[in-house]
Amino acid sequence: MSKNGVLDKSLGFSTRAIHQGHRAADHHGALNPPVYMSSTFAFETAEQGGEIFAGEREGYFYTRISNPTLGLLETRLADLEGAEAAVCASSGMGAICSAIWSLVEPGDEIITDGTLYGCTFSFFRESLQKFGITITHVDLTRPEMLTSAVSEKTKVVYFETPANPNMRIVDIEAVAKIAHTVDATVVVDNTYCTPYLQQPIALGADLVVHSATKYLGGHGDLIAGAVIGHADLIHQVRLVGLKDMTGAVLSAQDANLILRGIKTLELRMERHCDSAEIVAAYLESHPRVTKVYYPGLESYEGHAVAKKQMARFGGMIPFEIEGGLPAAKKLLNSLDLITLAVSLGDAETLIQHPASMTHSTYSAEELAEYHISEDLVRLSVGLEAVEDIIADLENAFNAAYDATTVDFENQRRRA
Ligand SMILES: *Cc1c(COP(=O)(O)O)cnc(C)c1O
Repeated sequence: MSKNGVLDKSLGFSTRAIHQGHRAADHHGALNPPVYMSSTFAFETAEQGGEIFAGEREGYFYTRISNPTLGLLETRLADLEGAEAAVCASSGMGAICSAIWSLVEPGDEIITDGTLYGCTFSFFRESLQKFGITITHVDLTRPEMLTSAVSEKTKVVYFETPANPNMRIVDIEAVAKIAHTVDATVVVDNTYCTPYLQQPIALGADLVVHSATKYLGGHGDLIAGAVIGHADLIHQVRLVGLKDMTGAVLSAQDANLILRGIKTLELRMERHCDSAEIVAAYLESHPRVTKVYYPGLESYEGHAVAKKQMARFGGMIPFEIEGGLPAAKKLLNSLDLITLAVSLGDAETLIQHPASMTHSTYSAEELAEYHISEDLVRLSVGLEAVEDIIADLENAFNAAYDATTVDFENQRRRA
C-alpha cells in the first residue's frame, strides 16, 4: 500500500475496488472509510473560504459540489473504468441528465440508437426536443450508418451496449471513431456491464454513465448514478450539469453503500455470468421459447462484437415466448422464487415485461419499430443457486402452457 492510499493501476480489479484511495492510518485506523454526513464544511478564515470558492485553494465547502465520501467513491469508479475522473449522482437519470445538459445547447443534435432505457428514451424524445435539441435515431449496430448521419451539428453520440431491454450490441470502437470525425462527444451507458465486464473509455468513449442502482450497488437498496471520463468533461458535468442544472447530488449514506457493494463486484459479476450462461442455454433449448437475446450464445447476432469488447456476457437475459402477451402474463404470474419486479443487477432474480413496464414510455409504433415485442420478457439472473432459478422457470412454463398440450405437440413433432 502506498503512503497516500493511491494504488498502482497494475493491481487487480478487486484489489483496487476494495482499497483504492483509502489509507486506514489517516482515519484513526478505521478499516472502513468514515462517512462524512455533512452538508457544509467550515472555513478557518474568511480569506480561506473565499479562496476555496474561487477555486484557488483545494477544499470542501458544500456537498452538492463535493464531499470526501462521494470523492472516495468517485476515485474508485474512475479507477475501475480506467478513466481520469468521475462524479456521482442521486440516480442513473440524474447522471445522464447532468451529463447531457452540460454538453448541448439549442440547435445541437444528439444521435442515438433507437433502443434505450425507457426514461432515457423519453428524456431525449420529449424533454430535450422541447428545448430545441434534435434527436436522430440511427441503427448503431451498423456503424457504417453513422458515417452518413453525422454532421457538425452532431454534438453527442449516445448508446447502451448491450442495450436495455433487447441486448443490441454496438461496436464501441467503431462508433467512437466515426463520431470523433465531427468532434462529437461519445457517451456510453455501461450499466449492464459495469467496468468489470466492459471498459468503454479504453475503446474510445469520452464519457461513461451508470445507473449505480443496479450492479454497482448490487443489493437493491438504493438509487444512484455516476458519470465517468476525462477530467475536463467531468469538471464541466460537476459544476454545470450537476451543481446548477439538476442538483442531483448523491447522499453520503448511499455512497457508502455503493463503496460496500463494489468490494464484491468482481465476485458478484462472475456469479451472475456463470448462472446466466446456464439459464440462457436452458431457455434456448425450451420448446416454448422462440428467441433468447443473450450475447454469450453463439447463435446471437451480436455475439462477435460482444466477444471483442466484453470480458464475459453479463446477467441479463431477455427472451421471447410463444403465445404473446397472455402467455407472458401467465408465465410471470406463475413464478414463485423469481420476483416480478423492474430494476436489475440485484442478488434476487428479477423478471419483468418491458413493453408494459420499463419501456411503456415507447408508443406502440415505437415498440414495433425498435423490436421490443409483446412476447419479450426480461430476466435479471440473480445470485441464488442456479438450479433453483431453472426449477422455478420450469414450473412456471408448465403452468403457463398446459403441460399436456406441450407433450401432445412434442409427440406430434416427433411423429
Ligand atoms: C436503470 C437504468 C437507468 C436509470 O437509472 P436510475 O438509477 O433508475 O435512475 C439508466 N440506464 C440503464 C441501462 C438502466 O438500466
